[in-house]
Amino acid sequence: MNKQSASGKVFLVGAGPGDPRLITLRGAELLAQADVVFYDGLVNPLLLKLTNGRCERTARTQSGNHATVPQDSINEQLIDEARTGRCVVRLKGGDPYIFGRGSEESRALSDAGIPFEIVPGITAATAAGVYAGFSFTHRHHSSAVAFVTGHETPDRETSQLDYAALAQFPGTLVFYMGLARVRTICKQLVAHGKSAATSAAVVSHASMPDQRVVTADLSQLTEAVEQHELRAPSLIVVGECVNQRDTASWFESLPLFGLRIGITRPEQQAEDVVAAVVRAGGQPVVLPTIEIHPPDEQQLQQLDAAIDNPESFDWLLFTSANAVRGFMEQLANRSLDARWLHQMKIAVIGPSTAAELKLWSLQADVISETSRADSLAESLTPLVAGKRCLWPAADRARETLSSLLTSAGAVVQQVVAYRHTDTPVSKELRQEFCQPPLDWIGISSPAIARQSATLFPELVSGESQTRIVSISKLTSEAALEAGLTVHTEAIDTSWQGMLDAIAAAERGYE
Ligand code: SAH
Repeated sequence: MNKQSASGKVFLVGAGPGDPRLITLRGAELLAQADVVFYDGLVNPLLLKLTNGRCERTARTQSGNHATVPQDSINEQLIDEARTGRCVVRLKGGDPYIFGRGSEESRALSDAGIPFEIVPGITAATAAGVYAGFSFTHRHHSSAVAFVTGHETPDRETSQLDYAALAQFPGTLVFYMGLARVRTICKQLVAHGKSAATSAAVVSHASMPDQRVVTADLSQLTEAVEQHELRAPSLIVVGECVNQRDTASWFESLPLFGLRIGITRPEQQAEDVVAAVVRAGGQPVVLPTIEIHPPDEQQLQQLDAAIDNPESFDWLLFTSANAVRGFMEQLANRSLDARWLHQMKIAVIGPSTAAELKLWSLQADVISETSRADSLAESLTPLVAGKRCLWPAADRARETLSSLLTSAGAVVQQVVAYRHTDTPVSKELRQEFCQPPLDWIGISSPAIARQSATLFPELVSGESQTRIVSISKLTSEAALEAGLTVHTEAIDTSWQGMLDAIAAAERGYE
């Protein structure tokens, strides 16, 4: 993008408060175009999936292995990258101009003669009100709202906050960066005339699956915050409006709210499940236990040999969406297309494989009701006697289908359309699994069950609190054999079915 121009451009983009879907369309569009993205510590890393650019965390606060980066060097990096002609996105939590030092960055860019644009974002306060379930400007309670910083520039000797004015303010007060000073803030407001009985709340991790809301009056807020061990980032809200929150908010009532859910699928296939978990208020944790690769050279030769002889087959069988993709991609690599299949009938296992086939504009002649090999074999048995079937599958595909169809009089040729390999143990994967512990982990195939037992031995030893949901009876059996305890099983054999099973189990625990 923009590489030919002498100078690139910097976009200061508001990432929104945490829920990754709250970025603006313009922000998402710019992430897609960016060559490089500098993101701050408040940005939800799920947003980085929207870019192919290089991503660097530049935060002034320490987190994990990430070093802190001083503001001056952030400014310098933005300028240097733009000078090499790159499209630079500076992604900042919430809105770049609300307590975000965005104005310092734009000033530095302006001084350096670097072109820039600024994209607003949903600031933490507005998201906190909406996701916690109260309106700062409810007309019965308040006709104004003030955003106040609770963390002043450290070189100021005495507080610049005019507590007398704040105590008189005729509306809702929202303090950013105030958690560490909640005691002082409450005390000072009361000392300057605000009633100690004024309602207040702290909203922590607003719009995130681990959102917490604590309400108390001003005299008791500090104790309540300590008792509930609320953590930054948090906002302090002072005003009667917080009383609208008599019951849990719409957000906290979502079926998977607050749950960390491990997704064991290969990374390329996790996206839909991640989105479904976020929609249901949960926190997706991608833990690929299995990787998908194209066939190796010898397997590819066998696949190509079959592709070279379309007239040798009457039926084409697919037992996974990956197989459809692997096979159709190889046809495309050979400069062929769906016309290659015109003399064949197609049979697929279960609705999700059929759905993948549709993406290639192909309709299956036979779709088995369930995703089990015996169910597909049963549908095919009356149709395949004396017929030649091509079955592009995983390298580790089980023989069941082939032997059942052979017994029914068919000739089955199995070729490899993709390979499965087990994900090796890594520090990153272990960290994702443990910190903080998962509430649930979804196991969606026998191979994933076996590999999960290897990668996460605490699931076997019973040391872990993480509960297991399995996609089907077959997978539950394999999990049991691998030493795992399955807590619940999907009714519908799909990831959505597993998420529904988790929600049902959680309702049962209430
Ligand atoms: N530019 C950001 C604010 C940066 S200052 C914005 O517009 O939201 C950082 C402060 O924002 C934190 O100390 C906290 O008070 C608040 N904050 C940011 N994200 C938050 C969240 N998800 N929940 C609660 N407070 C949040």
